Amino acid sequence: MLANIRIVLVETSHPGNIGAIARAMKNMALSQLYLVKPKIFPSADATARASGADDILASAVICDTLTEAVADCEIVMGASARDRTIGWPTLVAKQCAEQALKDAHNNQVALVFGRENSGLTNAELDCCQYLIRIPCNKDFSSLNLAAAVQVFTYELFSKASQQIEEEAVSAPEPLATSAQIEGFYQHLQETLTAIDFIQSGQSNSVMRRLRRLYSRSRLSTREVDILRGILRMSQGRKQ
Ligand code: SAH
Repeated sequence: MLANIRIVLVETSHPGNIGAIARAMKNMALSQLYLVKPKIFPSADATARASGADDILASAVICDTLTEAVADCEIVMGASARDRTIGWPTLVAKQCAEQALKDAHNNQVALVFGRENSGLTNAELDCCQYLIRIPCNKDFSSLNLAAAVQVFTYELFSKASQQIEEEAVSAPEPLATSAQIEGFYQHLQETLTAIDFIQSGQSNSVMRRLRRLYSRSRLSTREVDILRGILRMSQGRKQ
């Protein structure tokens, strides 16, 4: 989903900030950088601060207007350090990441950042459906531009990684059926008897404990196969 999220910088003055943002983006697995009328670009300062994220700089798209930079985006979010009087829905950085990732499933999403000295104009914020904000000291709320991009891109990356992990957990291997599990317990009991760990007829309490142990781990079919493979091998060694 991160591939559908772009960072748009409006009239950035310091090329060093552009480089630092390219680096932050690459660290956080984002790749689409759009620059609206950058003051100086390309620039050795930008390349130096990118520290190897040159590919992001090389593929940056330069535009004349914000409208052009977001023309193909369905969702546009404008980052502002100041509380604005316009009644746009405001998302703090974590909520922004959630919303942006949800929308990025089937839309292009833009996160728009303003000028170092004056931020975004109200007309530019009018192009946005959401205001996005990093909560911080209300008496000193303006972060350095690259630091602001870093915070949002970190939240995006960490939410995206969490979603990938959750998907992996929610699509586990198929669980073993009771018949498979019973087959395993039978096999286990036979093996433990064969290696003289338990005596036939006196094995109930050990087997019950082992059943409890294995049932806590919700064995999958594959895991049962592995365990039975181990049992086969250990019986083979005994003979
Ligand atoms: N002096 C400007 C702030 C410029 S900081 C002003 O008063 O608006 C440059 C850009 O970084 C801002 O336009 C905004 O896009 C982003 N930014 C800085 N601090 C931020 C914060 N606390 N929340 C969201 N975006 C922030």
